[in-house]
Amino acid sequence: MAVIGLLLVAATSLVIAQTRARTELTFPDLPGYVTLKCDFHAHTVFSDGNVWPTVRIEEAWRQGFDAIAITDHLEYLPHGKDILTNYNRSYEIARAAAEPLDLICIRGAEITRGEPPGHWNVIFIEDAASLEATNYLDALKAAIDQGAFIFWNHPGWKQAEGKSVWYAEQEAVWQKGWLHGLEIVNGLDYDPIVHQWCLDRGLTLVGNSDAHNPVGLDYGELLSNRRPVTLVFATQRTKEAIREALLARRTAVYCTNAVFGSETFLKPLFEQSIEIVNPDLRIKAKGHVLVQIRNRSLVSYELAAAGKVPEVTVPDRVRLHAGKVSLLDVQAKSDKLSGEKALALPFRVKNLKTSPKESLKVELNLTVTFKPAED
Ligand SMILES: [Zn+2]
Ligand SMILES: [Zn+2]
Repeated sequence: MAVIGLLLVAATSLVIAQTRARTELTFPDLPGYVTLKCDFHAHTVFSDGNVWPTVRIEEAWRQGFDAIAITDHLEYLPHGKDILTNYNRSYEIARAAAEPLDLICIRGAEITRGEPPGHWNVIFIEDAASLEATNYLDALKAAIDQGAFIFWNHPGWKQAEGKSVWYAEQEAVWQKGWLHGLEIVNGLDYDPIVHQWCLDRGLTLVGNSDAHNPVGLDYGELLSNRRPVTLVFATQRTKEAIREALLARRTAVYCTNAVFGSETFLKPLFEQSIEIVNPDLRIKAKGHVLVQIRNRSLVSYELAAAGKVPEVTVPDRVRLHAGKVSLLDVQAKSDKLSGEKALALPFRVKNLKTSPKESLKVELNLTVTFKPAED
């Protein structure tokens, strides 16, 4: 009996060990920066979430994140009859669980008012309890005094037709220099109006899960492709470096196989993802060559031709599959070409968005050796 019991224990531990595995979010580092995968908006049972803080942490680790902020509502505590009100407790429990996993856990809170002014996340605070205030401006000021990075959450929420409005309240907070970023993605929703505001006003792009349930419950099988990620380009993998990068606007936002950000970061992100597997390319006469292009990132890049080169033709549309090697068929236009030529094939990457309407322009650089047709 004891032996069977031991065997059962052993089998159970094996299953747990196998389940406790991390799926990496594969985005390349940029020259001079590490690319950190972050979620700055998540709830637990200490406000209106449905998970204990330790679950939020292990879930983030398993889903490939480097950092997560625990941002329970200060003013909306529907579990108040079951869970003692303690504004700092969710972070304390979460941080203890994050430490052995080497996950960076950031103390935050969601200052929660009707619209306007709506909901504000304050992260990198020291004491969530000290933000209790009748006037939301007093709460924001207290957060600023603690060195907070502040962003306005889900601006389109509860607005007519979901259309975000920049209210006088936002203008006032922005004018004070207290508003640093905006959520352009919340859950599965990308908001182009908010993206444009970030560009016009010089605000940091942020995209978060705003998870209340276990994330797998809301996202299902499409999890790896759907849960939003704020990519932070930091000088090192520390909490303070994340804060510095956020204030310096070095972010991009990933959501449903698209990345939103400035050319400064999207261009190296694309270039560092891509590798030509067979660089020794040769075309004889009016023949063709199959270029093998490896894409190390988890974004399947959707390329659309953005011009022509005199020597060769390439397909108008090319998909560089995430984590795979894709083929690009390059055909010579003439049988008279000869010698080695450097080609810069112009494309737009349709799902790397530098603004709501524009996508990133790139060049695929190939060196091809042509051999003319024999007479
Ligand atoms: Zn909210
Ligand atoms: Zn929230």
